[in-house]
Amino acid sequence: MVNAIVGANWGDEGKGKITDMMAREADIIVRFQGGANAGHTIVNDYGKFALHTLPSGVFYDHTTSIIGNGVALNIPVLFEEVQSIVDRGVPKPKILVSDRAQIVMSYHILFDQYEEERLGGKSFGSTKSGIAPFYSDKYAKIGFQVSELFDEEALKEKTERICETKNILLEHLYHKPLLKPEDLQKELKEYREMVEPYVRDTSAYLWEAIKAGKNILLEGQLGSLKDPDHGIYPMVTSSSTLAAYGAIGAGVPPYEIKKIITVCKAYSSAVGAGAFVSEIFGEEADELRRRGGDGGEYGATTGRPRRMGWFDVVASKYGCRIQGTTDVAFTVLDVLGYLDEIPVCTGYEIDGEVTTEFPATVKLEKAKPVLEVLPGWKCDIRGIRKYEELPDNCRKYIEFVEEKIGFPITMISNGPGRDDIIYRNGK
Ligand code: GDP
Repeated sequence: MVNAIVGANWGDEGKGKITDMMAREADIIVRFQGGANAGHTIVNDYGKFALHTLPSGVFYDHTTSIIGNGVALNIPVLFEEVQSIVDRGVPKPKILVSDRAQIVMSYHILFDQYEEERLGGKSFGSTKSGIAPFYSDKYAKIGFQVSELFDEEALKEKTERICETKNILLEHLYHKPLLKPEDLQKELKEYREMVEPYVRDTSAYLWEAIKAGKNILLEGQLGSLKDPDHGIYPMVTSSSTLAAYGAIGAGVPPYEIKKIITVCKAYSSAVGAGAFVSEIFGEEADELRRRGGDGGEYGATTGRPRRMGWFDVVASKYGCRIQGTTDVAFTVLDVLGYLDEIPVCTGYEIDGEVTTEFPATVKLEKAKPVLEVLPGWKCDIRGIRKYEELPDNCRKYIEFVEEKIGFPITMISNGPGRDDIIYRNGK
């Protein structure tokens, strides 16, 4: 059976925590898109970890972690990450890397930096991890697949060809040092040595695992609103963040994905630029940011303060729909316990009309939030394990959101730890 864990919002919904928790029952966890640009923060018996490339199931010794073909694979980052968890006492994870995954090259990272520099104030707020240049090259068919690392002759010819085109941009557009084919060949050789023991036809491996009845989790990065097709283009990421892409980025049949667990945050946060209708500012935002997540809402990769906002029904309803949600995991609800009243954005006013349908970017830029205010519960709900034991106003908040988004909230996360979860029976 294959289940997907994906984000409903702008990312940072707590997918890592839900994956780590569900991985207890899983055999295989697959990353199917994205790269080392976003991070998952996980708190478990070994401590607190920020993962960027490894799937969030690496903390168990019964799981196999797969880097799927859809991932932007930064090989040194992957191996540093493995080393850093092993150094902290986690058993050495079993990792398989798809032979069809493509490699983030050092020049992708440089091009990402140069482009942000060139754009200045008009930049996309990239994490400068090379993701956009990487995926551009993948689709321009000049990327390096892991499988290619093993053909030195072909690499020689390809590195020369790549230097020719890249150097035109480096010289004339960016005015930066040029690339040398020998350096790229050396880089690729180092990567080959690092990755060789783990390389596998992972879609064939997953096919056999499905036939053997294994429990497989697909772990998404970022969320619906960062999807290049369905998100807030162009302020999106460069690979699809949707569960449907899980089938492609892992190489499994789409009909095998049985559950789509969409992680949805009890308030909003976003990193990078782009429309964010329910955004709040000033002291109100600072307080939510300080209290948010586990130790504040700051990017796991960049440490950047996240933009904060109230729960956005319009964006989340859309975010859940576009994922094909079967279950909503509603997270970080405990954070809201300090508020007397909790505003929720229930509609967008665009050109004088109120809508609950999430529009494409041009209209989205004009949207103003329509807020409804719900009473707060004014207490700490961490440690509660039964839905009925949550304060009345807290249950009302959950049920209000559930009714508005139109998808069942079957799990409620009330703390960062593995056991901070409330299952709603019969949902
Ligand atoms: P991801 O990218 O979706 O995995 O999300 P991040 O890891 O970037 O952000 C989620 C943050 O919230 C992390 O610091 C988690 O430890 C924390 N977190 C997850 N679930 C909960 C929760 O229910 N309550 C609290 N307080 N923190 C949570």
